[in-house]
Amino acid sequence: MDVAAFRRAVSRWHRVHGRNLPWRDERDPYRVWLREIMLQQTTVTAVIPYLERFLSRFPTLADLAAAEEADVLRQWEGLGYYSRARNLHKAAQILIEVHGGEWPREADALEQLPGIGRYTARAIASFAFDRPTAIVEANTERLYCRLMGYVDDPRSTAGRKALWAFAESLVPRTRPGQFNQALMDLGATVCTPQQPSCDECPVSAWCEATRLGLQTELPRLAKRPTITEVVEAAVAVRGTKGWLLRRRAVGERWAGLWDFPRFSLEDSAATAALPIRELAEGVLRQTGIRVDPQEQFAEFRHSVTRYRITLRCFLAEPTEITELSRDDLAWVPTARFQQFPLSKTGRELANRLHHSLFA
Ligand code: SF4
Repeated sequence: MDVAAFRRAVSRWHRVHGRNLPWRDERDPYRVWLREIMLQQTTVTAVIPYLERFLSRFPTLADLAAAEEADVLRQWEGLGYYSRARNLHKAAQILIEVHGGEWPREADALEQLPGIGRYTARAIASFAFDRPTAIVEANTERLYCRLMGYVDDPRSTAGRKALWAFAESLVPRTRPGQFNQALMDLGATVCTPQQPSCDECPVSAWCEATRLGLQTELPRLAKRPTITEVVEAAVAVRGTKGWLLRRRAVGERWAGLWDFPRFSLEDSAATAALPIRELAEGVLRQTGIRVDPQEQFAEFRHSVTRYRITLRCFLAEPTEITELSRDDLAWVPTARFQQFPLSKTGRELANRLHHSLFA
């Protein structure tokens, strides 16, 4: 491949056809980092308002480092994969306390920070610091597979190695960030997953997949794990001082977020109209509080990784007046729900209660 000609073709195309993203040419490492973490598992359109809101709450790295974790999770609410928010917070504290607020400029050093993987480290290094380092993310992974005519699984160990080596061979020493962005744009808008626009592609002359007629067959990703259906119960326990919330523990899904008592329902309980024993036992197990389940008032469907979850929401009353002695439990009036970081379905449930007759 004539790499210099390839780079020129990409840059020419990008000047005219590159995506007009709000962060185009952004070089502030804090902003680059935030958006790249948010963009993992989330679309560009969905990220834009979150990024603006997050930045107005935590305008600088120091603001983020000084924040309470609950506040960070609250701002992250709705984006999912909350370990990303917890790692952002930890990494901000390390950058302030260990690095004196100075960003490492090299990808290998950036990769030592919590939540910063190979791609994110190289994105920050190239976008913010012009380090000549390549990146491979979803759009470029597809583009490189097709350019190389790579017929095996690009996410296998050998596949990753081959794609990263190919990416490194292309990246220029000058303006590597701009070049990386151009390739991401090319993958997102021309070399698209289903119907790549090969006729309009500025790099078709170097494309092995086109030469072999394989452009719609590549990349060949290994099959995703099968989806498992699960039924869970969330129990809204109404006490005299509000609704019972519990902070989810380390090791649990959504650790650090607050939630209504929530647990899986097995077999017959999953389909029973009101599985009184299972609900009472589940709440007792998670909170130590005895309750009297009353009725189901809502049902949501949502997905978490490979699980498709039916969430049945029940009302319950405590069987006795209960003072709380654990700091991971709280009675919360509906007007104060906003102060607690909740999962997406936890927030839907809270809103439903806030606007219901039960409040
Ligand atoms: Fe993708 Fe087609 Fe361009 Fe090859 S020629 S890189 S398959 S858009």
